[in-house]
Amino acid sequence: MSQKNNAAPKRRCYAGYLNSYKYFDKIASCQGPCYNGQTMSFSLGIIGLPNVGKSTLFNALSSAKAEASNYPFCTINPNIGVVEVPDPRLSEIKKIMGSPKAIPTIIDFHDIAGLVKGAHKGEGLGNKFLANIRDVDALVHVVRCFSDDNVTHVSGQVDPKADIEIIQTELVLADLAVVEKRLEKTKIVAKAREKKTLEELRLLKTYRNLLGEGKGIGTGEEKAKVPDLNLLTSKPILYVANVDESGNTDQVAIIEQIAQKEGSKVVAICSKLEAELKDLEPEEAKEFLESAGQKETGLNRFISASYKLLGLISFFTANNKEARAWTLKSGSTVFEAAGKVHSDIQKGFIAAEVAHFKDLEAAGSYQKLKETGQLHLVGREYVVEDGDVVLIRFNV
Ligand code: GDP
Repeated sequence: MSQKNNAAPKRRCYAGYLNSYKYFDKIASCQGPCYNGQTMSFSLGIIGLPNVGKSTLFNALSSAKAEASNYPFCTINPNIGVVEVPDPRLSEIKKIMGSPKAIPTIIDFHDIAGLVKGAHKGEGLGNKFLANIRDVDALVHVVRCFSDDNVTHVSGQVDPKADIEIIQTELVLADLAVVEKRLEKTKIVAKAREKKTLEELRLLKTYRNLLGEGKGIGTGEEKAKVPDLNLLTSKPILYVANVDESGNTDQVAIIEQIAQKEGSKVVAICSKLEAELKDLEPEEAKEFLESAGQKETGLNRFISASYKLLGLISFFTANNKEARAWTLKSGSTVFEAAGKVHSDIQKGFIAAEVAHFKDLEAAGSYQKLKETGQLHLVGREYVVEDGDVVLIRFNV
């Protein structure tokens, strides 16, 4: 137990619906390090062969980009698109709680330069490319399904299955090189027969065997558990089937079959059309979508699918400055959620008031929610649900 006798007098605050809003000024102006060293947003790397539509998709995504001043921790980099996750619940919460603005949660997309056959050996941008994708949380693999004689295909014809195999092989070979290098080091250390190192050795051998058979780590029983390896084939994959403007989806089934075997997901999008949509006025874009029989843009479907792929949920906070959505790994506790908001809020965590969005919506006001007993006081072990509206009580 730490001695707190000499500590400064504590102030009790509420994150979410604060009595003293002073603290939130600190949060708003806060830069990276005070966020507890945590990654504030989740990131996806867009990969695929050249000329499949990666940049087109990235540009269309970048048009949905977030207001940078709301996210001071974000890196400004032309190859990273910070995109807001659409969530209609947020505007409802803003209305009910009387917050003047709503700040959506975000996701990062990294545009990763073309991967070509032989990349693991250094072809194209080779290892530099592969190093760039080791840090992302998941991969978005764009596969060309559109036919266009004016756009060269690297292997001469549209063939989603062959394209996926080329990329998969490069990822497997790149991982194999990483595993073999690490195996050499671990073998030396393992001579000391330390239990942890022996387990690492066992896992590395399993990975080497899987990769040697051309399989990704994610498809085997053992997920990558060796620290710092960041194996590419252990990352979740979302396939984007980049389809024709004509709506021809013939090739999508092929990708779906492959994805099903891997436990991955597929979203069919015409990225060229999405890129054109961004140039329309919102009303025009809406009309255009309705005429195509769609409620949502392909980009929104894509963003939501990415969010699901990563097993992410949203929770909300609201005060008289802003209503805000935050991203959390499914299964996280409210204590971890507090850390997302601010490391100091997590440190001073006392308890949290939690209500589900549906109950708040039905009650129509926070006061009514309280009166009807639908506001729950929870401790740090409470597991946050998607849609929870959270008020954290903390001492600073
Ligand atoms: P990247 O090399 O994978 O980044 O591919 P780009 O996004 O640069 O696209 C290559 C070319 O294909 C560009 O001329 C795009 O306009 C075109 N393109 C991308 N998506 C589509 C599509 O859905 N339909 C058609 N017809 N062309 C597309």
